[in-house]
Amino acid sequence: MAEETVFGKIVSGEIPVEKLVDTDRVIAFRDIAPQAPVHILVVPKTIAYANVTELAAGDPALLAEMVKVAQELAKEYADGDFRLVFNNGANAGQTVFHVHAHVLAGGL
Ligand code: AMP
Repeated sequence: MAEETVFGKIVSGEIPVEKLVDTDRVIAFRDIAPQAPVHILVVPKTIAYANVTELAAGDPALLAEMVKVAQELAKEYADGDFRLVFNNGANAGQTVFHVHAHVLAGGL
């Protein structure tokens, strides 16, 4: 189980963000410190999974939904091509332990 993180607070609305996607199970919003012309985070609403390894084991359909949302965002905000990054663990650069995908696009 993931701890409550900044993303849990964004999902609950305690921290407001502009949501680019808001489905039953997933939200997406722009990264506060963009590393590419388009840098959007895709975040499941559940706090059950701290990283993509846990998510893949526990709910692969939700992981597939995140990939679909990433593709839709890349089509809407860039040319449709995208890099999808999951940092998995602190030593790989993960800082928020609520699973999320970085969608990087737009002239990489
Ligand atoms: P990671 O290092 O993979 O855990 O990614 C966490 C990402 O969350 C970083 O790229 C941060 O810039 C981003 N981030 C942290 N707080 C916020 C926030 N309030 N709004 C948007 N992005 C955030």
